[in-house]
Amino acid sequence: MALNLMLMGLPGAGKGTQAERIVDEYKIPHVSTGDIFRAAMKNGTPMGLEAKKYIDKGELVPDEVTNGIVKERLAKDDMNDGYMLDGFPRNMAQAQALDAFGKELNKPLNCVINIHVDPESLMERLTGRYICRNCGATYHKVFNPTKVEGTCDRCGEHEFFQREDDKPETVKNRLDVNIKMNTPLLAFYKEKGLLHEVNGNQDIDKVFSDIKEILDKI
Ligand code: ADP
Ligand code: AMP
Repeated sequence: MALNLMLMGLPGAGKGTQAERIVDEYKIPHVSTGDIFRAAMKNGTPMGLEAKKYIDKGELVPDEVTNGIVKERLAKDDMNDGYMLDGFPRNMAQAQALDAFGKELNKPLNCVINIHVDPESLMERLTGRYICRNCGATYHKVFNPTKVEGTCDRCGEHEFFQREDDKPETVKNRLDVNIKMNTPLLAFYKEKGLLHEVNGNQDIDKVFSDIKEILDKI
């Protein structure tokens, strides 16, 4: 059976970090709505300019924009043998839209992993995050620095950036917005029998081995 996975977790829970490992291990395409918006903003497309208005304030981009992007992406043939969504759905309207177009495309979700992290530690995780400009690998100043200072472990390049929306002012609102939306989503996937909880307050390798244990049973 194809693995049609969704990674859930508040901003900073470790979705992107674990997604890198899941992609290497299970060879499924990784679709992060946040990455899609950042690429569109960098290229200055009309969609990117629209998304920027919300992202800069830590708000969600409107569902009409976001749902259309994911549906179009999910329809592609490289998603036929499994996929991993990261950062979508973020609210109930998106979850219901995914339910409908997942069925329509014959690629419904069959596993949801929620990485649970105590909200108090998320501010520190987000404000210390830095990303390789070349390959997108994610690091943390204290918790997960590169092995050689200034060199990406994954691709060997030397340029890194901090996300605009990881500034403390924006992080606070992002966390508030996402905490509010998260509870009904968790209940929705629990009810469907798709939800698996993982403790994200552990070191990165342990979180991954807990995820692997779940995925290897599917
Ligand atoms: P998300 O994609 O859920 O927003 P990230 O994967 O980008 O989260 O992780 C946020 C920050 O926390 C990054 O700087 C990352 O290196 C760090 N991080 C990820 N997982 C852990 C962990 N288990 N323990 C400590 N820090 C972590
Ligand atoms: P992320 O990279 O997942 O932390 O997302 C960064 C920002 O992109 C969020 O704060 C939102 O503004 C926007 N975004 C990402 N995914 C979604 C989504 N599913 N719905 C609405 N906005 C989103």
